[in-house]
Amino acid sequence: MIADFRSDTITQPTAGMKEAMFSAPLGDDVFGDDPTVNALQDKVAKLFGMEAALFCASGTMANQLAIKVQTTPGTQVICADKAHVYLYEGGGIAANALATTKTLESDSGLLTAKNIGEAINPTDDIHFPPSVLVCLENTMNKGGGVYYDFEEIKKIKTVCEENNLKLHLDGARLFNALVETKETPKDYGQVFDSISICLSKGLGCPIGSVLIGSKALIEKARRQRKAWGGGWRQAGLLAAAGIYALDHHVERLKEDHAVAKEIGEALKGKSWVKKVYPVKTNIVIFELANSILAKDFVTLLEKQNVKCVTFGKHLVRFVTHLDLSQKQITYTKQVLGQLNF
Ligand SMILES: *Cc1c(COP(=O)(O)O)cnc(C)c1O
Repeated sequence: MIADFRSDTITQPTAGMKEAMFSAPLGDDVFGDDPTVNALQDKVAKLFGMEAALFCASGTMANQLAIKVQTTPGTQVICADKAHVYLYEGGGIAANALATTKTLESDSGLLTAKNIGEAINPTDDIHFPPSVLVCLENTMNKGGGVYYDFEEIKKIKTVCEENNLKLHLDGARLFNALVETKETPKDYGQVFDSISICLSKGLGCPIGSVLIGSKALIEKARRQRKAWGGGWRQAGLLAAAGIYALDHHVERLKEDHAVAKEIGEALKGKSWVKKVYPVKTNIVIFELANSILAKDFVTLLEKQNVKCVTFGKHLVRFVTHLDLSQKQITYTKQVLGQLNF
C-alpha cells in the first residue's frame, strides 16, 4: 500500500467517470463539432454566468491564454510572488505574451486592493511598462490552500476598473474555496474578466481545464490555442469526464478538506515540526525544524510508503484527494505519529 499525497492530480478516473467517457458522443472540436466538448463549455459558462468557455489541455494553457489575450508585448502583469502563473508555468508570461511581471510579496500569496493599487504603474510616464492585468489565485497553492475573502476581491475589482486593468483568476482549485464559503461560481463570474478552472485537480479528471470569459475573449483564446498546437479533435472523450466531475465531485471536496485537517492535526506539536500553515482546504504545508531538510524528510517517508513533495528547503506539502482510502489515511497518521529524529 502506498499513500500518495504528492498532488490532487494523481487521481485515476472512477468507474462512473470512465463509463461517461466511453459513452460520450464525439466529433471534431477544431470544426466546433464535438457535442460533448460543446456541452462542457456551455455548462461551465452557464455555471459562472459568463458568455463563453474553452476546454483546454491544462491549467497552464488556460492561464497562459488568458494572459496572452489580455496583454500586449511590454505591458505588465501584476501577481503574487507565489503565484502559479509566475513560478510554475515555465516563464510563460515572458515567453508567450512577451509581457513583464510585477510580483507582490505576500506570505499567504493572497493580494489586497491596497497593495495592488500601489503597484500599478502611472500611465503618463514613458519609463514604466503599462500595468494591464492582475492575476489572482484562489485557492492559493503556495500559500497552503488558503482562499480569499470575497469582499477583498470586490475591492480589487474596483481598483482594476478605476485603473483600466483586466482581472484574471487562476481558479485551478476554485471549487475547493467555493465549498467552504458562501459564494457561488456566478459571484466570481461577475467580478473577473477571465477565470481558469482545473478539472484534473480535486475534481478527479484525467486531463483538462476550462477558460471562461466573454465571447470575444474566448474567440481570441481559441485562435491562440490553435496557434500553440492546442486545437484538438474528438476531445469529448475527455470533456465527458469534466461534465461527470462537475456533477459528482464538487460537494465531496469537503471530505478532502476534513482529511487535510486531520493530517495537519497529526503534525502539530511534533518536535520535528516548526510550524504547520493554517489548513483551510486540501493542502497541508508545514515547516520542518531547522536541522531537517525537506528532501531528506520526503525520502524518509517514501521508504515507509507515504509520498509527499518538498515545497522549499524546509517546507513539505501534502495534498488530499479522492483516491485516498481510509486505510491509507489511518496508516499515514500512524507513520507521522511514530516518526523520530
Ligand atoms: C495545477 C495548477 C495550475 C495548472 O496546472 P497544470 O498542471 O498546467 O494543469 C494552475 N494554477 C494552480 C494554482 C495550480 O495548482
